[in-house]
Amino acid sequence: EGVDLAIERGEVLGLVGESGCGKSTLARVVTGILPPTAGEVRFEGRPAQALRGRERLDYLLAVQMIFQDPFASLDPRMRVHRIVGEALSVHKLVPEAEVGAAVDRALADVGLDLAYRDRYPHQFSGGQRQRIGIARALAVKPRVMVCDEPVAALDVSIQAQVINLFLELRERHQLTYLFVSHNLGLVRFLCDRVAIMYLGRIVETGPVAEIFASPAHPYTQALLEAIPRLHRRKRAFEPVQGELPSPLAPPPGCPFHPRCPSAVARCRESRPERRTIATGRVAACHLLEKG
Ligand code: SF4
Repeated sequence: EGVDLAIERGEVLGLVGESGCGKSTLARVVTGILPPTAGEVRFEGRPAQALRGRERLDYLLAVQMIFQDPFASLDPRMRVHRIVGEALSVHKLVPEAEVGAAVDRALADVGLDLAYRDRYPHQFSGGQRQRIGIARALAVKPRVMVCDEPVAALDVSIQAQVINLFLELRERHQLTYLFVSHNLGLVRFLCDRVAIMYLGRIVETGPVAEIFASPAHPYTQALLEAIPRLHRRKRAFEPVQGELPSPLAPPPGCPFHPRCPSAVARCRESRPERRTIATGRVAACHLLEKG
């Protein structure tokens, strides 16, 4: 729905919103798993859908996805070394005799013991499986990692280890991340910039520090208000009010108006355009329009 989003090289961009807002669909479009129904994805300046042959393969390998569920995203019948080395062999990215060494490098990169290379996925914990998924992505030397709720299925104690691994890999391989999450605490820790999505639209973008210090859009304000905080632990949890409407029949005007505490009459009639509200910050809300 008119998503207009740029990710700079080396940046970690957080994509945040409630379940069902379209985050995962957008992530799949960015990686080329789903074709866009309209518009285009540009990769390093070139329209990805127009790429053919070797150039298309380069894009598909350069933009790798880390999935949410490490139990469903690994083939249970394949041993770890085959899972991690499969793309290298299929696309002949390294000579066959060197696949084993490349697999070992990828496993070492994510902190997995090489003695585990002949095991099957069911012999690993959730955190180890997610590391296998990351090693599989790293093996093809990606430039962009699209991480779709990559730690949501893991125990809290393991989440921190995997998040730190993402940070280390970013430094080591100069990676760019699109980090999809509903966990604002994680986004604050990991990301440089954040995009807030509501019903398929990006309603606010800006640097993480600024958005968390002074959210401009009422939806962003409501999301931040719902974050549990230690100093407010006696206060009842306040989720964003109301239900997310169906994206197939979005409300007229501003799609957030049925749930917005600041809505005015105009919000029911016309859709706010995204506008620059400060340097590096964009938001779509009538109340933020100047003049
Ligand atoms: Fe709320 Fe109106 Fe702004 Fe939409 S345009 S977020 S309904 S104030």
